[in-house]
Amino acid sequence: MKIELKNLSHSYDVEVLHDLNFILENYNSVAIIGVSGSGKSTLIRLMSGLEDPTTGELFVDDYSVKDPVYRKKVGFVFQSHNLFPHLTLKRNITLVLEKTRDIEKERAEEIALKYLKLLHLEDQVDKLPRNVSGGQAQRASIARALSIDPEVIFLDEPTSSLDPILTHEVLTAVEELRDLGKQFIFVTHVMSFVKDFADYVIFMDQGNIVEHGVPSILDNPSSEELKQFMHRVR
Ligand code: ADP
Ligand code: MG
Repeated sequence: MKIELKNLSHSYDVEVLHDLNFILENYNSVAIIGVSGSGKSTLIRLMSGLEDPTTGELFVDDYSVKDPVYRKKVGFVFQSHNLFPHLTLKRNITLVLEKTRDIEKERAEEIALKYLKLLHLEDQVDKLPRNVSGGQAQRASIARALSIDPEVIFLDEPTSSLDPILTHEVLTAVEELRDLGKQFIFVTHVMSFVKDFADYVIFMDQGNIVEHGVPSILDNPSSEELKQFMHRVR
C-alpha cells in the first residue's frame, strides 16, 4: 500500500499532531506504536477518513481519504468491540451489509457466516455479544470489518480490553488473515505481534513520527525516545 501524509496537523483544544510529512510505499501491514497520548488513534482515525484533519492532506493508495470511494474501501476495528448489544453476532454483520452495501438478505447471511467461520466463530453466530467472551466479541468485530470486503483494515488497540490469553487468541486470528491479500494498519502495545505481523513500524511520540522502518528498528532504535519506549514495554 501507499501512504502519504502532507503537512498534516490536527488539533482538538490543542494541537496533537504536528505537521507530519511522510511517505510509505510497498508495505502491507503497518504498525503504529508509541506511548499513550502520542497521537496514534488520532492518526489512524484521520487515515481511515473517520475524521477530517485540521490542516494538511492524507492519501492512501493515491486516494484522498476524503474521497467517498476510498471511504467504502476501509474497515475499522476499535479498542472495544462496539457490536450492537441487542443483535446476534450474525445479525451485527448482515445488518451492516444490507444497510450500507445494499446486499440482499440471503447473500448477506452467506457473507456473515463465511467471515464468522474464518474467525472461528461458527458455533457462536446466533449469540448476543454479552453471551460470548470478550475475545469472541472482538473477533466478531473483525469479521464485521472484513465482511464489507475492505482493501484496508484499521485496528486501534483491538486487544486493549482483553486479558493476555484472549489477547493471544485474537492476535493469532488476525495473523491468520495474512493471506487474504488485505492491507492492515494497526495500533498495538503487543510488541511480539508487531514483530510477527508488521512489515513496517511507525513510532510516534508527542504528536510526531519520531522513527519509522522495518520491525528490526525495535531491536536497534536510533532515537532516544524509541529506546526508552522499548525499555518501558518490555
Ligand atoms: P494515543 O492513541 O496515542 O493514545 P490519541 O490520538 O488518542 O493518542 O490522543 C492524542 C492527544 O489528543 C492526547 O493528548 C489526547 O488527550 C488528545 N485527544 C484525543 N482525542 C481527543 C478528543 N476527542 N478531544 C480532545 N482531545 C483529544
Ligand atoms: Mg489510542
